[in-house]
Amino acid sequence: MKILIGEVNQESNTFCPVLTTMEEARRTRFCLGKEVVEKASDTIKGFLSVAQAAGAECFPTLAVKIQSLGVFASADYEELKQHFLTQVREAIRQAGTIDGVLFAMHGAMVAQSCDDVEGDLTGLLRAELGRDVPMVITLDPHANVTQRMVQNVNAMFAYKTYPHIDLFESSEAAAKLLFSILKDGHSPVMVMRKLPMIVPAENSQSIKGPFAELLAEADAGVRRGDAIATSLFPTQPWLDIEELGFSVTVLAANKEQGAREAERLVALIWAKRHEFDVEMHQVEDVVDLALRDPGGAGPVVASNSSDSPGAGSSGDSNFVLKKLLALKVENNLACYLDIIDAPAVAKAIAAGVGETVELQVGHSLDRTYGEPIFIRGRVTHIGDGTFRLDSLDRDVTMGRAVIVKIGKIALLLHEYSVPCIDPKMFRSMGLDPSEADLVVVRSATQFRDGYEPIGRAIFILDAPGFSSANFRSLSFSKIERPFFPFDDDFVPAEKQSVREVELP
Ligand SMILES: [Zn+2]
Repeated sequence: MKILIGEVNQESNTFCPVLTTMEEARRTRFCLGKEVVEKASDTIKGFLSVAQAAGAECFPTLAVKIQSLGVFASADYEELKQHFLTQVREAIRQAGTIDGVLFAMHGAMVAQSCDDVEGDLTGLLRAELGRDVPMVITLDPHANVTQRMVQNVNAMFAYKTYPHIDLFESSEAAAKLLFSILKDGHSPVMVMRKLPMIVPAENSQSIKGPFAELLAEADAGVRRGDAIATSLFPTQPWLDIEELGFSVTVLAANKEQGAREAERLVALIWAKRHEFDVEMHQVEDVVDLALRDPGGAGPVVASNSSDSPGAGSSGDSNFVLKKLLALKVENNLACYLDIIDAPAVAKAIAAGVGETVELQVGHSLDRTYGEPIFIRGRVTHIGDGTFRLDSLDRDVTMGRAVIVKIGKIALLLHEYSVPCIDPKMFRSMGLDPSEADLVVVRSATQFRDGYEPIGRAIFILDAPGFSSANFRSLSFSKIERPFFPFDDDFVPAEKQSVREVELP
């Protein structure tokens, strides 16, 4: 058996005006052909392990992982599509005949010219391979599953963890299903149901809370035999596109069974919609709490999720720093925080370690939510900005990076967007977050894996930004109404998509 494999992964934020380019792709992960296997991510490794056990031969195409940001610039998306097509055609040429496809995608990638990148790419695969080659994909649960995606692929598998730590297992599950389709000669029916609603990512953890309970319900349905597999997609909410919503996909033996289980799950999701609400805290209140026990058992961790690079925000907001300076905490509280600001980094590096610098920091990429501020501090560390993100199974680089100390405030300035989820980001710069009184991270949930073990308390900050949990602060204009949480007192209309394909 000859299997085509690959990966294209980015979560786009349509509110952030900073466009995604191919430069971002090359900085994060951009592998073509054999490199896909040689530098395999956990996602690819999951495909390979099952394929090897089945005695199948894999034909790699491309593996592109791009740090979240605004939508893909049109010309850059066209370039990505060209790479995609070239590599797919080359894999087909080498294989002669492709028996099946395993592809990893995010599911919430948007380009200036295309609201549904994964629908577009899976459509290209179908055009190259025809209707009869079974295709199974993995998706992030923050995918926005579309009608096109459902029509193009035989099955989709969402990660079941948030923070996402089961990428390998999701790929294994997808690969096992693909080989069972190839062996048995027929594909299960896939039913997708979608609710016109979004929920905050901050309260969508998989170990506790409403999303954990929904995942348990979905698993119970599979154990009862009501479905072969089920995936829940709360979607990432910072997408102003027509087809936005919380989706469920059910793989079942027949359409009726799949529709019944999907209906049961969407009813539970709709009933739980208010349980996802997030309690947001003012910077002043969080500082108060940290001041009560400075030097206490671990830092207070404050999530500035409104400016989360992992959710496609620009990561250059100085909102929290401005507040900390206005509160004059620099002599009392050891605070660690970061800001993306390439010009400030260049100036601090030119000055050198030990020197006092005056810098303009913040909003170097976008000024929608603020203006740069002037600071005076001492450069204490210069680094190359590279560190290992174990949870995402990859090395990342924030570009050149510096620590500028303003009293006890340690400001990490760096050049590029990077997931701000791991204490290693600060450790790579000679700072240990467990020794701080207050650490500010820019992440909705993914940071919990690294920070819950060291933090004494965690708070979500009420701050402005493109990835705010306060959806009313963002200008959604393309979504269909009624739509929760902007509307609440309505019964969601039945929107169902079924894919039913029998292999010859
Ligand atoms: Zn996600």
